[in-house]
Amino acid sequence: MKSILMGTLFVILALSCNSEASMDAKKYNNKSSLEKESAPTGESVSYAVAIHGGAGYQTKESISNETDLAVRKALNAALDAAENILSKNGVAGDAVIAAIEILENDPNFNAGKGAVFTNEERNELDASYMDGAKMDAGAVGGVTNIKNPIKAARAVMEESPHVLLTGKGAEEFAKSQMLEIVDPSYFKVQSRLDAVRKAKARKEVKKHGTVGCVARDKNGNIAAGTSTGGMTNKRWNRIGDSPIIGAGTYANNNTCGVSSTGHGEFFIRYAVAHDISALMDYKGMSLEEASNHVINEKLKKAGGEGGVICVDKDGNISTPHNTPGMYRGYVTDKSRGVAIYGDEELQKVEH
Ligand code: ASP
Repeated sequence: MKSILMGTLFVILALSCNSEASMDAKKYNNKSSLEKESAPTGESVSYAVAIHGGAGYQTKESISNETDLAVRKALNAALDAAENILSKNGVAGDAVIAAIEILENDPNFNAGKGAVFTNEERNELDASYMDGAKMDAGAVGGVTNIKNPIKAARAVMEESPHVLLTGKGAEEFAKSQMLEIVDPSYFKVQSRLDAVRKAKARKEVKKHGTVGCVARDKNGNIAAGTSTGGMTNKRWNRIGDSPIIGAGTYANNNTCGVSSTGHGEFFIRYAVAHDISALMDYKGMSLEEASNHVINEKLKKAGGEGGVICVDKDGNISTPHNTPGMYRGYVTDKSRGVAIYGDEELQKVEH
């Protein structure tokens, strides 16, 4: 009864704001169709991959046909790359890097090549990577010339005694690891520059996507990675959740792997990625329960917009988001699908 009253009150409040807001409120209640189409518990999958290209205000009205098609193509290419590795007994970490590299090289996503601009009209990139078998992790923050920051994040884990390197030091380290260094102008995409100039004129800081991948390989090892350009018009070397282990990325072979996208400050404060794993660990929640609780209850109540993609130790997949849309996809040895909009039926293709 109490919850019905609360719900009614919420609807009245939402309607009294404006019709657009009430539409958003309705859309926010959508659960991702991917959850329903993930491998059901009990059905054993030998490998599983989930990817995202950012949560946000993707609606059929706001996205051109051209972008819609280009995004689906890129998501499928990233899934192909990951699947190609896992189906041949490759390791989860390699699948994560391969999928994210494809999304980083695509200007449609806010990571690598398509990174958004800061207030100073620069591109500052963040990325992180975690290995759920070793409970080891690496990350870079605020880098400006590393072509694929996700590779630098993994190298920090594998080749340095540290977890998080930032700025010039991270760039020097990447160079010492023979990673590809580019002129910062490589990241300049005109539409992103136009967007920051508009945001500056309106004095707003906007979030704009991120990319991520979580994979579970045939041996049950889980890895997760996240890469982003952060928020349009960010300043003062702002760093978001994406390179923060436990907020933007987490992986633990005993529970799950998670990659986040959304308003980073909230994801840091609520330690979102770790919280999902902890709820499974300490409370015995399923992946779907834990991820929905954090995204659609805790974060939503706090006003934190965004979503996550997660894969658990049994290969179950969950992709809740409290935004109107999220670029997302999954593949297992049984099926695959990609989706953009909140209420979209997943285009599931059986293998
Ligand atoms: N989480 C990213 C950040 O706050 C942005 C996003 O995913 O939209 O930097």
